[in-house]
This record gives sequence, structure tokens and C-alpha cells, in this order.
Amino acid sequence: MELYNTLTRKKDEFVPNVEGKVAMYTCGPTVYHYAHIGNLRSYIMEDVLEKYLRYAGYDVKRVMNITDVGHLTSDGDTGDDKMLKGAKREHKTVMEIAKFYTDAFFDDCKKLNIKTPDVVEPATGCIDDFIKVISSLMDKGFAYEAGGNIYFDTSKLEKYYVFNDFKEEDLAVGVREGVEEDSNKKNKADFVLWFTKSKFDDQELKWDSPWGVGYPGWHIECSCISMKHLGEYLDIHCGGIDNAFPHHTNEIAQSEAYLGHKWCNYWFHVLHLNTNSGKMSKSTGEFLTVSLLESKGYNPLVYRFFCLLSHYRKSLVFTYENLDNAAVSYNKLISRVASLLKEDSGEVDKAAFDRLKKEFTDAMDNDINTSMAITALYNVLKADTNAKTKLALIDDFDKVLSLDLISQAEKQNAADKQDEIPDEILQLAEQRKEARKAKDFATADALRDKIAELGYVIEETRQGTKISKK
Ligand code: AMP
Ligand code: ZN
Repeated sequence: MELYNTLTRKKDEFVPNVEGKVAMYTCGPTVYHYAHIGNLRSYIMEDVLEKYLRYAGYDVKRVMNITDVGHLTSDGDTGDDKMLKGAKREHKTVMEIAKFYTDAFFDDCKKLNIKTPDVVEPATGCIDDFIKVISSLMDKGFAYEAGGNIYFDTSKLEKYYVFNDFKEEDLAVGVREGVEEDSNKKNKADFVLWFTKSKFDDQELKWDSPWGVGYPGWHIECSCISMKHLGEYLDIHCGGIDNAFPHHTNEIAQSEAYLGHKWCNYWFHVLHLNTNSGKMSKSTGEFLTVSLLESKGYNPLVYRFFCLLSHYRKSLVFTYENLDNAAVSYNKLISRVASLLKEDSGEVDKAAFDRLKKEFTDAMDNDINTSMAITALYNVLKADTNAKTKLALIDDFDKVLSLDLISQAEKQNAADKQDEIPDEILQLAEQRKEARKAKDFATADALRDKIAELGYVIEETRQGTKISKK
């Protein structure tokens, strides 16, 4: 299997540190607001990577943090604290909004069939781990105190800009919002490991430390949480492309300075989802969330399908027209699977199964090429083999794609069956409805019994009256 590695800037053969096992880390959400569908593109594609590794037989342990402290509005450690800003906006405490938006994030993930990582760790639960690593960096001379804060000294490294050849003057490129510079830093690229209360007097969450009461920087959280659960050697680290610099660059700097050896072998970055007007935002334009898509009548899995149609290393433009096209294709796909279910017969043809499966694994082995994998799925539908074989393949691919292809098709078939209720029964049901309306429950019950005698069951559900064959 080949994976594009931001560190080597090419596709590398994937070889984990320990045969058969994968240690995988994902930067989790900053829980100050709902995730937008751009954030969720990253999590969908990382989910596909994780599921494909498992499908390929690896024993994967995946860890994700929840950023509930330390992430400032600029990734370059300036600006306001995002969590504090969110709490003020909603007149709640930081921990209240952290809980609310963590739950909301996992609700969205559930709707999009994104598996919860094996370990989910909020940053506020690991303060002792951060202090331990920062103390060691101080002892080793990689960190210094200035203006009350603790900074990582990037001049102590042989190479700091591991992903690209940034120059100090270009530093602002990777920083989300241009804000004033921190005059405490010895070098422009230095970053904060520990803030003291001198930074924000109204900071709600603060802890005691050898350097005074304060709170951790965002970058140190991911290094420590990863090392805490996955040890000194990490196979894959994931995130959106904006995380490559400065966040991941800083993670590498501090982790390797602390460990004294190489830390992570593969860096997997998902390109951004943009709107027609550019960057996706939580504050300007339409705030695109999963709930918003649902309120407009879209099945969240249509958005997952939309993401899978493109390669994760290409930026993707979101428009409702594009999403509508994906919805049409997804619904057609489900209808075709539904027809296969109706004719499900025969035995699995092993030779055809292996040949068609290879097309899928070839696509996925080629740097998780999901659009080619979807083509392989369409080729199954077109293939000259029986329905049983096709359904077995669809079920198999869906372990990775997670589009609920079989269960949605079953639902569709059940709904179609519902539509096949004979006119006579429908008329009796209509008379029963009228009787109920008129509060003539004796007649209504008698009509229900008559419907039952004819072999149908009538029930009241939240969606209305449901008639089904007994
Ligand atoms: P945050 O909650 O801001 O820490 O971001 C959560 C994840 O979403 C990170 O991995 C980001 O790199 C990623 N991300 C942010 N914006 C986008 C976008 N427009 N498209 C794809 N991923 C994004
Ligand atoms: Zn991170």
C-alpha cells in the first residue's frame, strides 16, 4: 500500500514500525463551536484510511485529542483563546461549551458513519503530561522562559521547517489570521509551550505549574496525548492541510527534541473543502453544518459519498449543485443495490469476487484513491456475474466506504413494499381514519380487525399511519 507522505513529498510504501500494527493519531476538533462540513471532510477521509488499514488486516490503534484549551484564533499563538471566545458568545463556562460541542461533534460523526477513535482524550485531562514534557524540554535547553510564558527555541534544531522550505519572513503564510507579534520570542518561529495568566487575565481554566499558574499551548497537547497512548514511535499522523504548518511542524520539533529520535513516519494531510467564495468559515457566509444539510433534506451519507468521489489530496469545492449531483448518484446506486437484493440468488462466484475485489484494493492501495474505489463499485454493478457475488462485494467494500449501501437498499425495498398495498386495504384504512377522526373508535377497531383478517397490519407511528403485510 502506498501513501502520500507530506514529510517526503512523495508516495511511500506503507511499512509500520511493528509488523501488522498501526499506531495512528488524529488532531481532534477544537470544541468552541459546531464542526463545519470542511472539518468533517478531514474526519471522513481519515476514517476511510483507518477502515482501509483494518480491512487490509492491520491491528490499528487510533488516538484523537479534543482541544478544549490552548488553541488561539491564530495558529501562531496570538489572538484570543477560541474556547474563551466561544464561552463568552454563549454566556456559558468553557467546560459547558466543551461538553456541548464535543457531543455535537460525535453526533455529526455518527450521522456520517465516522467511527469513534479507540482513544479520545480531552487536553484538559492531561495537564501533568504536558508539564512533564515541557520540564524535560527546559532541562534539555530546548525551551526558555520569557515574559512569564515558556517558549520552544526553534534555533536549537538542525531543521525546523520539515514539511517545506519556509523562510522566517514567510511565517505569516501558515498562520490563519495576521495578528500582532509576540515580542517575547527569541526567534520568529518559536512557539508557546505554556502560557501564564499574564497572557489572559480572564482565562477561566488554569493550572499550577513550575512556571506559574497558566495553561498549555495547543501544539504540546497533541504531542503528549499521542505519546501517552501510542508510545515513542508513531506510524501515521493525520489532519487537515492547514495543520501542517505551524501545528504539525511544532509537534515534530518538540516531540523529537524530547525523545531524541524520529517520532512519526507518515504524515497524512487532507486538502480543504472550500466554497465558491474561498475558505470555509464558521463566522462568515452560510455556516455549513451537517444539521443544516439535514434541514435542507439531504441524507448525511450523501455528503460522505460526495467526499469519497474526490481524492483527499485535491481541494474540493462545495456547492449545492455538486451536492445535488451526488444525491442523484447515491440514490441511483441504492436503487441498483435494491434490485440486486430482490434477485439475490445463486452462490458467490469466487473467481469473479477476487477479480473485482482486486480493482477495489488496487485503487485504495494507491494512496487511498476513493474515487477509483467508487468506480470499482460501479464496475461490480455492471459485471457479468450473479447478484449474490455482487452483493457480497458491495458488502465487503462498504466496510471501508461506510455508505450503508445494503441497509439503505433494504429500507428502500421495504418502503416500496409499503407502496404495494392493495386498493381495497387502502380504502378500509381511509374509512378507519375517518372513523377515528369522528371519535367513532368502535368502527375504527372493527375496520382494523377487518384489515387484519385480510392479512395486513395497521399501526400509528410518528411518521403517520403504517400499513404492512403480516
Ligand atoms: P479545528 O477544529 O479548527 O482544530 O479543525 C479540525 C480539523 O479540520 C483539522 O484537522 C483541520 O485541519 C481541519 N480543517 C479545517 N478547515 C478545513 C476545511 N475547510 N476542509 C477540510 N479540513 C479542514
Ligand atoms: Zn493536533
